[in-house]
Amino acid sequence: MELLKKKCPKCKSQKIRFQRQYPTKNHGTRTIYKCEDCFNNFSETKNTFLQNLKKPISLIWQVIKARTEGMGVNATARTFNISKNTFLDWETKFTNLFKILFIYSLVQQFLKLIIEGDEVPPPL
Ligand SMILES: [Zn+2]
Repeated sequence: MELLKKKCPKCKSQKIRFQRQYPTKNHGTRTIYKCEDCFNNFSETKNTFLQNLKKPISLIWQVIKARTEGMGVNATARTFNISKNTFLDWETKFTNLFKILFIYSLVQQFLKLIIEGDEVPPPL
């Protein structure tokens, strides 16, 4: 599928190879690729909506959902304990991606449930 084919963000070459992986705080492991044509190193999230995101997608989704449902700027900042600039920035970035964000957040929570599910104590 063309959408999933990785390309070098610099020269658009598809001759890229796996370089290394590193853990992120909220988004699992991230992969670094190297372009074999221009030797550019780039993260798999380069030029995607995930680039430079540090907060969990599920939180971002909750915030945007609350804002969509009419929660004010100050109330949002207070409720989610984040700065106004942070979520106003998300809003400009994610308004068109709302549905994708929702699905992504569901998947992330689902995976989290599976992982944490192993640690749930047996019922009394
Ligand atoms: Zn390249």
